[in-house]
Amino acid sequence: MPTLPPAEKSKLKLADVALPIPSFEPFTYYIPQELAEQVKLGSRVTVPFMKGMKTGVVIGFPASTELEKVREIADLADNDPPAPPNLLELCKWISDYYVCPIGEVLAAAHPAGMLAESKKAVQLKDDYSGGIAGLEGYSQEVEEIFRRLKKCKPLPLSGLRKDYRRKGLLSLLMAMEKRGILEIVDSFPGAKYRPQRIAYIYLNPELTEDYLLTWLNDRQAKSPKQAALVRFLQGGMSVTRKTLMTETGVSSSVIKTLLDRGLLREKYREVIRDTAVDFGEEARIVHTEQQKAVISSVNQAFDRKEYAPFLLFGVTGSGKTEVYMEVISHCLQAGKTAMVLVPEIALTPQIASRFRHRFGGQIVIQHSRISRGERYDSWRRLATGRARVVIGARSALFAPLQNLGLIIVDEEHEHSFKQVNRPHYSARDCAVWLAKKLNIPIVLGSATPAVETYYNAQQGKYKMLELPERVAGGKFSEFHLVDLTEDSALISGTSISPLLLEKIEDRLRHGEKTIILQNRRGFSPFIKCKLCGAVEQCENCSVTLTYHITNRRLRCHLCGFQKIAPVICGKCGGSDLKYCGVGTQRVEEDLAGLFPDAQTVRMDLDTTAAIDSHFKILEAFAQGKYDILLGTQMVAKGLDFPQVTLVGIISADTELLRPDFRAEERTFRLLVQAAGRSGRHRPGEVVVQTYNPKHPIFNLVRHNDYISFYQKTARERQGLRYPPFGRLIKLSISGPQESKVAEAASYISQMIPRTEVRILGPSPALLAKVKRKYYYNLLLKTDLLTLQRLAAIKRSLLEVRESALQKYRGDKVGLEIDVDPLETL
Ligand code: ADP
Ligand code: ZN
Repeated sequence: MPTLPPAEKSKLKLADVALPIPSFEPFTYYIPQELAEQVKLGSRVTVPFMKGMKTGVVIGFPASTELEKVREIADLADNDPPAPPNLLELCKWISDYYVCPIGEVLAAAHPAGMLAESKKAVQLKDDYSGGIAGLEGYSQEVEEIFRRLKKCKPLPLSGLRKDYRRKGLLSLLMAMEKRGILEIVDSFPGAKYRPQRIAYIYLNPELTEDYLLTWLNDRQAKSPKQAALVRFLQGGMSVTRKTLMTETGVSSSVIKTLLDRGLLREKYREVIRDTAVDFGEEARIVHTEQQKAVISSVNQAFDRKEYAPFLLFGVTGSGKTEVYMEVISHCLQAGKTAMVLVPEIALTPQIASRFRHRFGGQIVIQHSRISRGERYDSWRRLATGRARVVIGARSALFAPLQNLGLIIVDEEHEHSFKQVNRPHYSARDCAVWLAKKLNIPIVLGSATPAVETYYNAQQGKYKMLELPERVAGGKFSEFHLVDLTEDSALISGTSISPLLLEKIEDRLRHGEKTIILQNRRGFSPFIKCKLCGAVEQCENCSVTLTYHITNRRLRCHLCGFQKIAPVICGKCGGSDLKYCGVGTQRVEEDLAGLFPDAQTVRMDLDTTAAIDSHFKILEAFAQGKYDILLGTQMVAKGLDFPQVTLVGIISADTELLRPDFRAEERTFRLLVQAAGRSGRHRPGEVVVQTYNPKHPIFNLVRHNDYISFYQKTARERQGLRYPPFGRLIKLSISGPQESKVAEAASYISQMIPRTEVRILGPSPALLAKVKRKYYYNLLLKTDLLTLQRLAAIKRSLLEVRESALQKYRGDKVGLEIDVDPLETL
């Protein structure tokens, strides 16, 4: 194909390409003739940028450009389907609302990110028999590639690109793929080039129910193995031969017999790298009246095809998950797809297997335990419509679902829905935007809704649905407060009160389980010299070093710095060092001393470094392998175990005294969630140890009174114009020199137009120094302005940012903008 002379370029179409760099504007390129058909809205393309190549996403087709020098798109970046239009619009909205460059948002939305070179490889099709003759009409280059593929297969795409510096190489290969000559496959590191194909066995779908029933009746006595096998596959399951044999205990000859008789069928499938398959019995559930009412409200809204945001306010165990699955079924029956967002920590094997059970191969379960190759697989199964439900943490928001009909956000109050890094988006809020955009229902479920969400329901923006009772019955836990200010509140030399000791002993006697929570890891949060009072600090960060008993080291929890614990004070040489405060390791030691026969397992960042270790711990605990589960707030979120009848909180103060306006909300939620436990045989109990027993939050928890908690909190926030009565934007200024950071922060503060904005700060962040970088915060408060006014404010922030970064470029000052921050410190 000849290249066009420059004069002809005016006839070429233009494309706007978003690149993963801090630019809010896309870059304009020509679409070369060779790619005219393939480049679509949402396509990922490789383009020349500065002196190299970059991967970006096509986000528009401008009619003209003012630019003088316009370069050409080099190629498609991969053969993935283009991002659906909704996803593009969602990303654009995130870019605007959260003030984050569009290319960075798009990069976050794709499983491969924006690698300059996608990991693809090319191989000949096994069944291509046309030989060179079949390549007629293709160029010499193609013949050469063909010969190389015959010799050595498969070839990485990146290599081919280097050897054949031709435009549109990938689109040419894609055309050859269409003609059945070759195939383009993923080649993530560690994954095999060739997709693995395995035979799956399933019931012949042409057989009628009646036929099967008669057959089963007939066979039951004569050949129970055959009958068991058929019964196993009833309901549309398809499994590998191996699974079939281990699950049903039949031999391969039985399978062969049934295959020969046409009862079973076999097909080769690309192995989907998704292991969570469950074959348990499905219990038939009759929904309660309350569940029915909730289900019908959501289904009706779905049928009316309207935007309908619901707050499903229901205690744990009230049957919310059942409701979700039912309304999703309704949605799937109507031919649409569904998205379920849950906190990562909630994706336990139990939940996964409930969904898997209900939706079989239609569902994709996305959690952090899967490799990038698996992530990519599931992404493509969704993009191609092979799967129709996604359940996953925050980033499942970007699942490439076509024809989305319903969104569920479970535990909508969870802070993990907000991404801490750029883009600082809230998956819950984005999901609401998406539902509105698509005119579909969205269900936000929680037992302790975020104050913002409850406010929206009060205002009539969301419709409230309630499930106030537990399905299985069960009373609310009894709540005990231990006043640590009293003398001998603790058993001498430990972190455990006599009351907590007594309750744990009681559980051990009855074979029941206990969860103990202490939100600090390590042994002692700091060590202090008794002589001069000096405390060991991190060299790189403004925090104390935590003593870890495992290897007798002091460690920084922010930067990872560590050293052998000293025996004498670094400052005065004093030899009397005190280990202060209580970390999980210390509680573990206390428990071991007090209950030498109990099996305790500790779960915190230190014991869960491996990718799925915390699921393993939770699973082992659920299976009854331990008496006591001890940990940081990680355990608070996996609290749903019926055998647990006691929750002990070593100190409620760590959370309560955080100087953040959401500290009380977090404490209330933690304690209510803890108190939400109840045993099968008797109500659970909660023991909370605190130095602030008079704090009003404890009474609200005692009476499980969310409404009063909400009213109190709403009153306080209204007075201070905190969300939901106002809006916040946090600016975080950082750099290697504290004085420069402080200077830049006040410069920025002065530059921000004060109309409609109040500014708190600048002040050093709570973590004022992390990894040798200093941090200052500015908190911007506004009233509940219209989105337009807010957009104007954000635009002005961008200008301020530009000018500040320019001015302090030499000082390496950085500025992060966080819209609707959850952490204000
Ligand atoms: P939630 O999500 O609100 O915590 P779940 O949906 O997980 O509640 O329900 C809690 C337990 O009760 C689960 O074991 C579930 O199978 C069971 N369950 C839910 N609805 C019913 C029902 N109508 N009848 C019997 N059991 C139910
Ligand atoms: Zn540090």
